Formats: sequence, C-alpha cells, structure tokens
Amino acid sequence: MKVAVVTGGNKGLGFGIVRGLCKSFDGDVYLTARNESRGKAAIQTLEKEGLHPKFHHLDITDHDSIVRLRDFLQNTYQGLDVLVNNAAIAYQFNDSVAPPYPEEAREVCHVNYFCTLDTCEVLFPLLRPHARVCNVSSLNCHESFSGCSPSMQNRIKNEIHTIADVNTLISDYVKAAQNNQHVKEGFDQYPYGMSKIGVTLMSAIQQRMFDEKGADDIIVNSCDVGVGGWVATDMTGQYGVPIDKGALNPLYCALLPPNVKKPKGKFLYDKKEYDW
Ligand code: NDP
Repeated sequence: MKVAVVTGGNKGLGFGIVRGLCKSFDGDVYLTARNESRGKAAIQTLEKEGLHPKFHHLDITDHDSIVRLRDFLQNTYQGLDVLVNNAAIAYQFNDSVAPPYPEEAREVCHVNYFCTLDTCEVLFPLLRPHARVCNVSSLNCHESFSGCSPSMQNRIKNEIHTIADVNTLISDYVKAAQNNQHVKEGFDQYPYGMSKIGVTLMSAIQQRMFDEKGADDIIVNSCDVGVGGWVATDMTGQYGVPIDKGALNPLYCALLPPNVKKPKGKFLYDKKEYDW
C-alpha cells in the first residue's frame, strides 16, 4: 500500500491538497495537523464528500511529534511515497497579531524553514523508489531575493551549496534581525520571503543529494501556488482564488509520474520551472 502525507492539512491549501490526493493518488492519504480536533473535523468534512483521508497528529515544531509519525509510517507502511511539506506561518496579512519584528523573523524562519527541514530529515529515510516530495514555498522567495543587496544576491545564487550553507544564511538573517541590522547586512526585510528562500534553496540541494546517492527516482521540488496571486486561506485573510485551484501546482509536484526526467530540484510555478 502506498502512502502520502500532507503537513498542515486541516485547512487552507493543505486541505485542498489532501482533497486532491484523495481523488488522484493510488494509496492512503494522511491529513496531518498539529491540533487533533481541527484535523479530525477536516477529515469529517472530506468524508462527507465521499473521500477517505486518514488522520495523524503532526506538529512540525515538535521533533518528537515528527519522530512519532515516522515510527507510525515505518510500522504501518514500511515507507513513504509522497510528502507535501505545506505547513507554514505568516503574519503579513494580519499585522495586528504579529510579534515585534525580531521575534517575527525568528519564529517565521524557525517554523517555515528549520522545522520543514527537520521534517524532511526525519522522514526522508522512509522514502521509497519513485517517491515525490513537494516543499510548498512561495513566489515571495523571488520578491525577497530581489529585495536583497547585490552582494547578498550573489551569496544566495553562487555560494550556497549545502544544507549547512542554507542554515547559516537563514540564521545570519535571523541574527541580524535581532538588532535591526538585517537591511544593512543586505537581507530583505520580509521574514516570510526570507524563510521561503530557505525552503527553495533547501529543495534544490535535497534533490542533488538524492541524485549523488543514486536514489531510485526520488524527486524533490519546491513550488508556489502558481495562480498569479494569492489563494483564499486564513494566511491571506481569505483573499484570492479558491483552495482547489491553488492546490493544482503542489499536486502536480506530488504526483509527477514514475521516471520523469524533469522537473527535479526546481521551483515550480503553474506547473513550469521558474527561475526565481
Ligand atoms: P493557512 O494559514 O491557511 O494554513 C497553514 C496550515 O499550516 C494550517 O493547517 C496550520 O495549522 C498549519 N501549521 C502551522 N504551523 C504548524 C505546525 N507547527 N505544525 C503543523 N502544522 C502547522 O495557510 P495557507 O493554506 O495559505 O498556506 C499553506 C502553504 O502554502 C504555506 O506553506 C504557505 O506559505 C504557502 N503559500 C500560500 C499562498 C496563498 O496564497 N495562500 C501563496 C504561496 C504559498 P493550524 O490550523 O493549527 O494553524
């Protein structure tokens, strides 16, 4: 039995991705959520539509929670075929709840980049041949890249070769933000976009690492929703297109057929490689 996992599946885009996988993926689909009642309520909604997702708890900021999911998948399925890293946070649409800037930079980069990386590192050993990983990033990585100084852009494009390099880049941004030195040091001022630069860089490196290890057709891509704007979710204050439309690009990444030659390690926008 094949198995797919979506992080942050209880609402928004993740919910739309679970719905799409239930319709198109030949295997069990796990809607995971950090809050059990919200996750189970989402399962019930999809069951009323005649779909049959399964539930597992997952808080990506809690390492033990990721390990518990890994052990469950190992014991039940002995592997993993699709991983959609969708869970993330942002404050820009609701400034009234945003913490002070240094804390926002730390928290957003922690959840969106470091905890997504942790999820990958714990779950990747389970990936089977032909597995697909979709790291949901954002076109904001492009905007934040444009907002960086020329020398920082050069660092991002030419000097990031390993996951350790990405960790240092994002940590440097967070450190600089603690003293409001981030712009002076060449970083963009947008925490969400900086965190998504990390996700996009990380994805390309993860693909290269699988290729170097000779992994059998494991593909990692990052993506935007690819709808020419926003998707109407709580993150965007419900401004934008419906979630099922926004789910199409992540679903394309998650369902790439066996043995395709590309896209691999790319950032995808509207089902096409996008040079961000
Ligand atoms: P929402 O805020 O609607 O949903 C975010 C989801 O992530 C929720 O299920 C939330 O759970 C979950 N989540 C947050 N923190 C954690 C955590 N620590 N552990 C597990 N789950 C967590 O946002 P969207 O649906 O809009 O965003 C989904 C993805 O799409 C994100 O990666 C976002 O960056 C990306 N994206 C969205 C765009 C848009 O236009 N909406 C555009 C481009 C990219 P809970 O309900 O418990 O808070």
